[in-house]
Amino acid sequence: MSLIVMKFGGTSVATPQHMQRVADRLIARHEAGDEVVCVVSAMGKVTDELVELAHQISEHPAEREMDMLLTTGEQVSIALLAMAVQARGADAVSFTGPQVGIMTSANFSKAQILAIDAGCVRDALDEGKIVIVAGFQGRTPDGQITTLGRGGSDTTAVALAAGLGADICEINSDVAGVFTADPRIVPSARLIERIGYDEMLEMASSGAGVLSMRSVEAARNHQVVIHCRSSFDDGPGTIVKEQDPSMEQAIVSGVTFDTSEVKFTIRAVPDQAGVAARVFSRLADHDINLDMIIQNVSEDGATDISFTAPAVELDAATAAVREAVAEIGAREWIVDEKIAKISIVGAGMKTHPRVSARMFSALASAGINIDLISTSPIRLSCVVAQEEFEEAVRVLHTEFGLDGPATDEGE
Ligand code: ADP
Ligand code: ASP
Ligand code: MG
Repeated sequence: MSLIVMKFGGTSVATPQHMQRVADRLIARHEAGDEVVCVVSAMGKVTDELVELAHQISEHPAEREMDMLLTTGEQVSIALLAMAVQARGADAVSFTGPQVGIMTSANFSKAQILAIDAGCVRDALDEGKIVIVAGFQGRTPDGQITTLGRGGSDTTAVALAAGLGADICEINSDVAGVFTADPRIVPSARLIERIGYDEMLEMASSGAGVLSMRSVEAARNHQVVIHCRSSFDDGPGTIVKEQDPSMEQAIVSGVTFDTSEVKFTIRAVPDQAGVAARVFSRLADHDINLDMIIQNVSEDGATDISFTAPAVELDAATAAVREAVAEIGAREWIVDEKIAKISIVGAGMKTHPRVSARMFSALASAGINIDLISTSPIRLSCVVAQEEFEEAVRVLHTEFGLDGPATDEGE
């Protein structure tokens, strides 16, 4: 008997018919003798619709109330899914995140899981039940309801798998697993059979939305094996686990993109010690997660600083930049909202010095201008104009030999 955590995302439970298919899958696993915990997201685009609804009410809704609102999406799903399982004659019980003891930090909208006391899940499993848990939510030690950031149900699933000592954490979605690029953009993308945590973490953090970054981090920290697969069939999917010598060390395993960031440039910043510290302290005061940071060579005692930040934090970042510009006496600042970050990720990159030259040449041959560049040992990222991102992804996918036969995944 195995203990398995099965997560189903929004598209997998978008309609009552979808819910019933998920219920069938849960029951099949349970009847095969496994203990089954299911983590589920809000139906279809419900979270987006709730965000939109809040913005019709208020331009700047309080984060606490936003989390109170968004957690309702998952609560609807767990109740309906439990009913669907029960209607088929099997035993199921639903729990919210707070009910299963998911304790988080107090930063609303992007809370971090601090601890899980999954005692009630264990008890319900011992009673032979299929346990259905709301993804994406938890509570602070003093009882405030929080959410874990968009895509947070993946993190709930991995954290529960770690907390319960599950044998595997299945992340089921509308794609057959992790591909060499988003199959919606690159129809010739190939399914990756196995991938190490480090590469998967770089892919997730640079835009491969098939797994949330936090979930991969949690899986790596607790050595949870993730099986990423389709909700709709029994294909082989992708195994995400610790890299081992039998796994291929491709120079480039995948190409990713991220269109969710904006770029700020602060012009004519005095080139003195402590200036960058002041700019980035202001941004930190506003709790902004920065990504790329570039400071140009100074000319006549002044320099330019550029950085990227999430578009959803545009208002807070703008306020921080305004304060910083006044404080340090910079000449001006501008923001570019039409950017995209394109990345190539591969563990084999460490030992292949020509990768960056190949990346830049391939983009140049396609007439794509590179704006900012950043690197990690196994990732290279470039910021380009947003209108060019699809072409940039395809060009790099071909350049690094990743194209396979076209699939129908993107349809
Ligand atoms: P869910 O709602 O089930 O959580 P998501 O929409 O979050 O599903 O994630 C699945 C989507 O991730 C796919 O529809 C696909 O377009 C996108 N995606 C982005 N990059 C990749 C990739 N490298 N491999 C597979 N899917 C990817
Ligand atoms: N419903 C949340 C979202 O849309 C969490 C999730 O689906 O993982 O981001
Ligand atoms: Mg998701």
